[in-house]
Amino acid sequence: MALERRIVIFCSASGDIDPKLNQAAREATRAACSLGYTIVSGGTVRGTMGVVADEVVKAGGRHIGVLPRFMREYAYPSLTETVWTDTMAERKERMRLGTSAALALPGGIGTLDELVETLTLAKLHLYDGKIFALNIDGFFDPLIALLDHYVATGMLDAPSRALISFPETVEELAGLLK
Ligand code: AMP
Repeated sequence: MALERRIVIFCSASGDIDPKLNQAAREATRAACSLGYTIVSGGTVRGTMGVVADEVVKAGGRHIGVLPRFMREYAYPSLTETVWTDTMAERKERMRLGTSAALALPGGIGTLDELVETLTLAKLHLYDGKIFALNIDGFFDPLIALLDHYVATGMLDAPSRALISFPETVEELAGLLK
């Protein structure tokens, strides 16, 4: 039997974003489920997290939600497994645990925090999964520009910059997740 593969998906908690971004989130979730990945997320009903959770249920996939206890009231009701943490920092650590890929969907500062921490750990050889940010409609172009600025100014080495890729479509992402 093939080993279980896990992907951590970092997503927005906002319920007020362009519907096109949530549609891309659904398609990315479905693609990951059909490639056999167990989804790991922040596990709440909020924003894109809830959208991803609904899609895992529809796809008949497995979903591990990792939540700090103080967010108990927002827990998504039908997760395959719920992992409780005491802090947001512990939550990030547990979300990444055992995953072979990390995917940031378009999100806000929480998503950015999760993504950048993962990239920093990868740079230090403390995370060995693939790292992606789904660049629908150029959402992550400002982050790409910032990373390239870091390389140009010697703040980030080119091999570390290459640890993250920015697929522009779900098809491209799916190809990279195979
Ligand atoms: P953001 O991208 O700022 O919407 O934050 C979403 C991400 O940060 C999620 O992946 C969560 O793990 C975490 N997060 C930040 N704020 C919240 C919140 N109010 N409810 C649930 N998760 C949150």
